[in-house]
Amino acid sequence: MDITERFLNYTKFDTQSAEDSNSVPSTPKQLIFAEYLKKELEREGLEDVELDDKGYIYATLPSNVKGKDIPTIGFISHYDTSPDCSGADIKARIVENYTGGDIVLSEGIVSSPKKFPELLAHVGEDLIVTDGHTLLGADDKAGIAEIMQAMCWLRDHKEVKHGKIRVAFNPDEEIGMGAHHFDVEKFGCEWAYTMDGGDVGELEFENFNAAGAKITIKGVSVHPGYAKGKMVNASRLAAEFIGMLPADETPETTEDYQGFYHLTGLKSNTEGAILSYIIRDHDRKKFEMRKEFIGLCVKKMNEKYGDGTVTAEVRDQYYNMKEKIDPCMHVIDLVLKAMQDCGVAPKVKPIRGGTDGAQLSFKGLPCPNIFAGGVNFHGPYEFVSIQSMQKAMEVVIRICELTAEYND
Ligand SMILES: [Zn+2]
Repeated sequence: MDITERFLNYTKFDTQSAEDSNSVPSTPKQLIFAEYLKKELEREGLEDVELDDKGYIYATLPSNVKGKDIPTIGFISHYDTSPDCSGADIKARIVENYTGGDIVLSEGIVSSPKKFPELLAHVGEDLIVTDGHTLLGADDKAGIAEIMQAMCWLRDHKEVKHGKIRVAFNPDEEIGMGAHHFDVEKFGCEWAYTMDGGDVGELEFENFNAAGAKITIKGVSVHPGYAKGKMVNASRLAAEFIGMLPADETPETTEDYQGFYHLTGLKSNTEGAILSYIIRDHDRKKFEMRKEFIGLCVKKMNEKYGDGTVTAEVRDQYYNMKEKIDPCMHVIDLVLKAMQDCGVAPKVKPIRGGTDGAQLSFKGLPCPNIFAGGVNFHGPYEFVSIQSMQKAMEVVIRICELTAEYND
């Protein structure tokens, strides 16, 4: 089976995850695809193939080198697709030898380089697109196809030496739960890579430090006609609190390494208000200062309106994996060398979000993120170039090979 056929087969499964679910995985339909992947791994001759009751799949490609100490490494992809866009009845189609013009996905739905200039980087390549009504699911089934194809290639090319390679496919990444039930100990790798980045060359090992803050404001409701000196309007206090946070430190005013406060929700009336924020910063010190600043604003409000008027609940969500990667930069150097050997120009950039790999890094498995090739994730304009997937597969193979030479 070639990588294209493999990927197209995967797109036939609806594996959308769901935010508002208490089950693991969040949707039972993900397990149907998990079973399919398990069988495919077995059919392709991988060892220790295991699917646990939470939908996590592990497998091994055994080392083909004897008497040499080679680190065990792993490759990880998630098989769920985003809750933001339907993943049911995906009708994937190949646009051969893309010429750089508009692609009519279906009547009235056009993927145009005017709107998506990313398309122009793929002129002359073969693009897999949708019919404009669903996402494609290259995020992250392209990653799975690449890992699977790389393992088959290594299996068939015994002359290429490699150590023990572990692969894992997991559910629920899109709802931020992908790493939660990941068994790092069972995986047993010194380090690993998620194949879950975007366009060719992307390599990410810095992400946000993240916290959520819930601000609760207590008001006093009195008939407005008799309110003088008595009413405390929580809605007005909410507006005042919002005004205390810097207006130029929001998602819509920042980029690259700039952090922010993001007001994600606001519920209020005279009696009470709840403000929901997310706080993000790559820099751990600045991140801590942001949280302190929230506390300072609360203090100021209480000085003005009385103790207990405003309270804040601040909860850390995840941290920047860089602090776990820095002590083992060979994990990155290997990728850079592998990309170079495969003719891929590395694009290293900080993630303005988190990854499963960030959480895994803090669970003891250093885990940067490598491109899987997909573009325009989470929507109907998502596409992936077949050549990009092949490049990603080559990079996986080359990393395995370079790791075998690692202790030389
Ligand atoms: Zn993804």
